Amino acid sequence: MGVWQKEIIAGLLLLLAVSIIGGITGLFMPLALALTLAVLMRQLYQINRFEKWIRTGGRAKYPKTSGIWEEIYYHVYRIKKNEKKRKKKLGKMVDQFRQSTEALPDAAIVLGSNDEIEWANKAAREVFGLHQSDKGQRIPNLIRFPEFIRYLKSGNYHEAVILPSPVDHRITLAVRIITYGAGLRLLLAQDVTQLKKMERMRKDFVANVSHELRTPLTVLKGYLETLQDMDDGKSSLLTTSFQQMQGQTERMQHLVDDLLLLTRLETQQKKTECVNVPALLSQICKETEALHGRTSAASASGPSLSSARIELIMETDVHIVGEEQELRSAFTNLLGNALKYSPEDTVVKVRWYRSGDSIVLDVEDQGEGIATNDIPRVTERFYRSEVKRTKKVGGTGLGLAIVKHVLMRHDAKLSIASELGKGSRFSCYFPVKRVCN
Ligand code: ADP
Repeated sequence: MGVWQKEIIAGLLLLLAVSIIGGITGLFMPLALALTLAVLMRQLYQINRFEKWIRTGGRAKYPKTSGIWEEIYYHVYRIKKNEKKRKKKLGKMVDQFRQSTEALPDAAIVLGSNDEIEWANKAAREVFGLHQSDKGQRIPNLIRFPEFIRYLKSGNYHEAVILPSPVDHRITLAVRIITYGAGLRLLLAQDVTQLKKMERMRKDFVANVSHELRTPLTVLKGYLETLQDMDDGKSSLLTTSFQQMQGQTERMQHLVDDLLLLTRLETQQKKTECVNVPALLSQICKETEALHGRTSAASASGPSLSSARIELIMETDVHIVGEEQELRSAFTNLLGNALKYSPEDTVVKVRWYRSGDSIVLDVEDQGEGIATNDIPRVTERFYRSEVKRTKKVGGTGLGLAIVKHVLMRHDAKLSIASELGKGSRFSCYFPVKRVCN
């Protein structure tokens, strides 16, 4: 029988006893009142005991009782016990998580919605010089590098920001913020000192080697020119040898120049001015046309004739903020490639126009095109796609790497659309914020 049924039966039996005694003695009403009062007093007593027990947390074993109250005590006690178990388990999990993140070699800081430090691991305390007491402090007050504050405020956390450690400037950190949950952010900092050192060594090595190669090359070229002048043309072997030597030294000079330019792009501070792109483009088109006209005429036996292959379409006259020499290199490379990799009887279109949020330069040819697999790789250093060509096309494989770097320094993007045998279109997208006229 359930507890509720027992309680009801006990109540009914008491009422029956009161009715019988009341019927015999004629005191039914006083007896019924006394019974009601007794029941009420008992319930008040039980409620009072229960309130005292629950007030102390309900953790101790509940007082001895019976009936429905024992049931109530038992259920509450069981809920409390389960809650305690769950709390203990969660606490253990949090402890384990903290211990593992504490042992992480990378610095980790949990930031609140107001940039305040909620938690930091041991590595974070070490590399940023934080103390336990810094909890709750706003991070811009502790890490004061302007580039970090800019990064924190920007809300654009796709890339990491490189900073020196505030406690030891010899340590370089790559700091990245990851957003999660509602307004919470995790700041991760990785020690990239070795990586940066290696990168610097690579840049220095390339720069030094290229620089050192310049002088011997100039000397070689000078002697070669003298020897060519002295050549009386009696020995065809000698003449072709001189020509090949000249071709190869020129190729090497281009390589050295391109490598030096790439190094400059990687290491030099950006200089900016308002560049008159339309004027720059017409100048480049004229120069490149003349140069390619001369080269093709030199290889052919006919008279020197510059072919009008470039069609320049200027749809806007906007100027952009940038570095003229760098832009000149990039545009010359694109135009040079378009002429180099397309037949001489085809047109190369150069178009300067506005499209949505960008100012665009298109260089479009009707040449050999690039295989789909090669497109993502052509901007890599020294990458030259292997296409069966009727004549050998010279190059260093550094031109598009230069273009990519220059565009990166101008917040611009390069997009390549190409189809084998049909042609290619190289588009440079400059953001409108760079327009300066
Ligand atoms: P390269 O000195 O070889 O021209 P680049 O970096 O300028 O070096 O170009 C890399 C490769 O991309 C080239 O070797 C060529 O295969 C391909 N390429 C570049 N521009 C064009 C183009 N307009 N049409 C077809 N292929 C191109």
